[in-house]
Amino acid sequence: MSERFDVVVVGAGVSGASLAWHLKKRGVGRVLLVERDRPASGGTGKSAAIVRQHYSTPLMARLARAALDTFQKKAKACGFEQVGYLFLVPPGQVETAKNNMTMQRGVGVETEWLDPAALATRAGAWLNMDGVGGATFEPKAGYADPVRTTEAMVAAFKETGGEVRERTAVRGLLRSGDRVTGLSTDAGDIAAGTVVNAAGPWAPMLAASAGIEIEMRVLREQDTVWEARPGRPVPAHSISNAVDATYLRPLGANRYIVGRGFPKDYVDCDPYNYKLTSDDWFVAEVQKRLTHRFPTMEGAKLVDSYAALYDVTVDWYPYVGPRAGLSGYTDFSGGSGHGFKIAPAIAAELAEWIADGKVKPDFARLSYDRIARKETFAGSYGGNRG
Ligand SMILES: Cc1cc2nc3c(=O)[nH]c(=O)nc-3n(C[C@H](O)[C@H](O)[C@H](O)COP(=O)(O)OP(=O)(O)OC[C@H]3O[C@@H](n4cnc5c(N)ncnc54)[C@H](O)[C@@H]3O)c2cc1C
Repeated sequence: MSERFDVVVVGAGVSGASLAWHLKKRGVGRVLLVERDRPASGGTGKSAAIVRQHYSTPLMARLARAALDTFQKKAKACGFEQVGYLFLVPPGQVETAKNNMTMQRGVGVETEWLDPAALATRAGAWLNMDGVGGATFEPKAGYADPVRTTEAMVAAFKETGGEVRERTAVRGLLRSGDRVTGLSTDAGDIAAGTVVNAAGPWAPMLAASAGIEIEMRVLREQDTVWEARPGRPVPAHSISNAVDATYLRPLGANRYIVGRGFPKDYVDCDPYNYKLTSDDWFVAEVQKRLTHRFPTMEGAKLVDSYAALYDVTVDWYPYVGPRAGLSGYTDFSGGSGHGFKIAPAIAAELAEWIADGKVKPDFARLSYDRIARKETFAGSYGGNRG
């Protein structure tokens, strides 16, 4: 093989791009980021990119908290809008949410509980309070532009001496015994000290080329974009709505990305061949739930709708880090429909793990090895609510 890099990262979604940048920041010598299309052309480019910190484990809460720092520091480059984040909680989950907030505050998350009266004061002009037990509110959270965020990471990576190859598909990983030694592209083979598999929903196929297993469901996720009628009070925040299983976030003035959240029916699909457009029944279902909870959205115009992919792991937590008994290979996939906002923080800790061999014990648990060890995670809400 004529070429050799210290680390090759496959996939320039938000995960691969963030990691590549952090590796260079840590002083890793030759780092290559390989993308078969262009940055953010996978799930990242279609992400709702809601940035929130409400999670039910200290690991995820502290990662979301740390990533928020990146979004705040790089706000302009990432298109980060600090509009605040509201989590609408049904009565049956109020105690769980409050307990999680106590844990979150312990890792530095700024969050407040809004009982129905306080919520009505904040949101009563556009929110139907029926069946809402209360809400958590994070004033520092909001949403980002997923494409600009990824492009910003790629730019920072290049500025620190990293090399990017777009429109370069990795055809397979090269393996010798217990070691991954590099990869094969249309333009030839490349040797690598470490290969990072950040190929999102396509990660299992890439891993399989070297006999490495990744247990993952690839699910079709639809989203819609609505424009509210002018002159009405409209939702002011990014919102997860556990009462009606929806989510919503502003998309500039008067427009909103709206999708269905957990629980719902999930549809497995082939990541190389799935329907990119939305289903009529889905749009109608979203509209019904949207106007029920946010009555001032009645008469809103549908401006866009589409489908993309979730890469869902066995426990909805990503696979991150090396594996026992296999050198030269590292996972960074399985965002499970909530991986955008945590990617910058995962990238920072994974870069330290790869570059210096240092890893925090809770972070080390993200390794794929957790499945064999029967140490998978359990979030208190289920699905990608974490
Ligand atoms: C509709 C939708 C809404 C979402 N909403 C949110 C949200 O509100 N908040 C949140 O935090 N998360 C959200 N997510 C999840 C989040 O967007 C993803 O977890 C995250 O963007 C995944 O990034 P990634 O880099 O891991 O994967 P991807 O973005 O899928 O990137 C993988 C990249 O690898 C490339 N690739 C694959 N195979 C190869 C190969 N063989 N050779 C070279 N390149 C290859 C692909 O082209 C792609 O660019 C949402 C996801 C979707 C789909």
